[in-house]
Amino acid sequence: MRASLLLLLCLIVPSFAPPCVKAQSDAPAPAPRAAPLSVVTTTGMIADTTSEIGGTRVVVRALMGEGIDPHLYKPSPGDIRLLSGADLVLYNGLHLEGRMADMLEKLSSRKPAYVVSDRISPNVLRSPPEFKGNYDPHIWFDIKLWITVGERIREILALQDPEGAPYFNTNWNRHRTQLTELDAWAQSRISELPVSRRVLITAHDAFGYFGRAYGIEVLGIQGLSTNSEPSISDISRLVNVIVDRKLPAVFVESSVPRKTIEALQEGALAKGHQLKIGGELFSDAMGAPNTPDGTYIGMIRHNVNTIVQALNISTEIPAN
Ligand SMILES: [Zn+2]
Repeated sequence: MRASLLLLLCLIVPSFAPPCVKAQSDAPAPAPRAAPLSVVTTTGMIADTTSEIGGTRVVVRALMGEGIDPHLYKPSPGDIRLLSGADLVLYNGLHLEGRMADMLEKLSSRKPAYVVSDRISPNVLRSPPEFKGNYDPHIWFDIKLWITVGERIREILALQDPEGAPYFNTNWNRHRTQLTELDAWAQSRISELPVSRRVLITAHDAFGYFGRAYGIEVLGIQGLSTNSEPSISDISRLVNVIVDRKLPAVFVESSVPRKTIEALQEGALAKGHQLKIGGELFSDAMGAPNTPDGTYIGMIRHNVNTIVQALNISTEIPAN
């Protein structure tokens, strides 16, 4: 009698349907972790490493996809819903997510939300003047630092899902080996370059850890990242470095004004030196999903190969 009354209610008020159906079934509530742990991360790099360690016991979503600048990123209403619905939130910290920092910190009082960089010793963090008193947050470009981050993610996952701990350990051991091999590969690939050519001229401030870890000097193109034009003295300073060191290429993004590149190329050519654009490097976001560049390992390999290929070519101007 009661069941038919419920059925009637469901038919009359369709929005009652799900609870009504539920009330009629006697299925037990799912056991904790019968469903995968739902993890939301800010960057793709954190998401990739979490997926490698969490395997089938996690479902990971990154808020910031391909080509997204994490420094300026503001969460959309959809992001807020994702964060609210997640079992676990992981973020870089060190002010990388500048505009989300307060929100993420508040979130940590309501649910497990962790900074993944907190086990890196401040002694090995860079604090160059361009970060205005803060640490350089681009820790993923030193693979050894990223291994510390992976270790921290393994620990956090085991805390949230203790039954999964042995599985996370196995996955992490496998992935840590891959990362250690990647680190050795990057070292050896960069060492193919003559020492004088190990110079990265770029508009990004993202490569400080990369330069320190793999022995490459990183020179910024003054002014480009702040939309102000570099001065004549900035250009001639860089032209001198390019010509003295016989650098075949500079690395820029499409947002860099064309005329600045042309000024560098013309300046170098006036001194008998041909300068090319060295290709695009990934800085604060990985490549497209489901491509090799859309993984942490693929992103690093792309950057290292692009740098070595561009800087290892002849700078002789062919005679006409
Ligand atoms: Zn950045």
